[in-house]
Amino acid sequence: MADVIVSRQGMDSARHGHPWLYRASIDHFSSSPERLGSIVRLVSEQGEPFGCGILDPNSPIAVRVWGLGPDARLDADVFRTRVERALAVRKVLFSDGRTTAYRLLNGEGDRVPGFVLDRYDDVAVLKIDGDAAKALAPTLTRDLEKVLRDAGITTLLERESGRTAARSDSDASTKSEAKRIHVRFGPEREKVQVLEHGVPWVVDLIRGQKTGAFLDQRENRRRVGELVARRLHAGLGARVLNLFSYTGGFSLRAALAGGKVTSLDIAAQAHATAQESFKLAGVAPKDHEFVAADAFAWLADAKRKGRTWDVVISDPPSFAPSEKAKPKAISAYRALHRACVEVLAPGGHFVAASCSSHVGAEEFLHTLDDAALGHNDLRLCSFYGPPDDHPTLPSFPEGRYLKLAILA
Ligand code: SAH
Repeated sequence: MADVIVSRQGMDSARHGHPWLYRASIDHFSSSPERLGSIVRLVSEQGEPFGCGILDPNSPIAVRVWGLGPDARLDADVFRTRVERALAVRKVLFSDGRTTAYRLLNGEGDRVPGFVLDRYDDVAVLKIDGDAAKALAPTLTRDLEKVLRDAGITTLLERESGRTAARSDSDASTKSEAKRIHVRFGPEREKVQVLEHGVPWVVDLIRGQKTGAFLDQRENRRRVGELVARRLHAGLGARVLNLFSYTGGFSLRAALAGGKVTSLDIAAQAHATAQESFKLAGVAPKDHEFVAADAFAWLADAKRKGRTWDVVISDPPSFAPSEKAKPKAISAYRALHRACVEVLAPGGHFVAASCSSHVGAEEFLHTLDDAALGHNDLRLCSFYGPPDDHPTLPSFPEGRYLKLAILA
């Protein structure tokens, strides 16, 4: 193992559990610059080893930290142990069998930086973020097939992504991602039927975004279903507008609860999958509206026509792929949120989500303040983060990219 001498600040951050060491935290290398994906020993300025990680000489995140302590090591055994631990955590969450699509490995949050693994019934889809992790993957994942087969997985697909695996930043590369799927083991699979809290839906593994679906919104989809049911129970309206509806996750829960749903997405293909799921769950798609259009233009038109909805949901793709893009992203969220509130019926609920890791929770709430909305009669009723199967590290706020606010 080559040594990397880390600045005091970098060491402090790693010791608190932050899994990234930026270029600027690296004081120097003890030997000539190392290869992409080499396992390096982390050493303090005083020469004391304090951890290990994977080196990426070409990335601003120079090292992903995998272990702390003077004897920290990284090999297939360490990787397998972490995967087993992650699977054990999921077993507690999903053993009732009512949810069969969930995240098995959440990268940094499961202490396997760069490795994301989602389960869709008996299929798992792996996504590896970063060239260094990719280079080392064949060594680290030696026992993965056995561990996954023992957990009931019969096919492992690997989805290639040139960019980060975080939901926040992967949406833009969807088109180019479509075909880069490899079978790691088992028979090839294209579509899977899964359950989410007992509700069946269809996941298109080949054409779908991310690893196939946005699993991070599962609990929020359930909450929206409950909200619609409670509104109806209270004798209130339940016309629902689901913006950026993708394969209709929020729509289906709202429809099952008795809502009349307008789903809007720019991708017509997503509506086709949504309608398959509606049918599978016993909901007639013809009783609901599906619109393929740009959300911004369409909202302006809906406002002109005076249309309103009792519940408006907004779950757009990441507006901020980088820190630099943040000011523009904040303006876009403010404009979008105002347009949403303009079609919200009096007494309605507004559900607003953001998956931009560069936009923090408080910053996101600023895009929902009175000035942004042009309203001073709404209140923040609930505010949620990522679900239990997307664990994060306390010291790693970047992992908590998902935010969802409910205003009324
Ligand atoms: N809410 C979904 C996930 C949304 S992902 C779920 O729970 O599964 C974001 C979606 O926004 C994608 O389906 C993408 O096609 C769509 N999209 C991107 N830009 C858009 C635009 N300008 N107008 C409408 N939809 C857009």
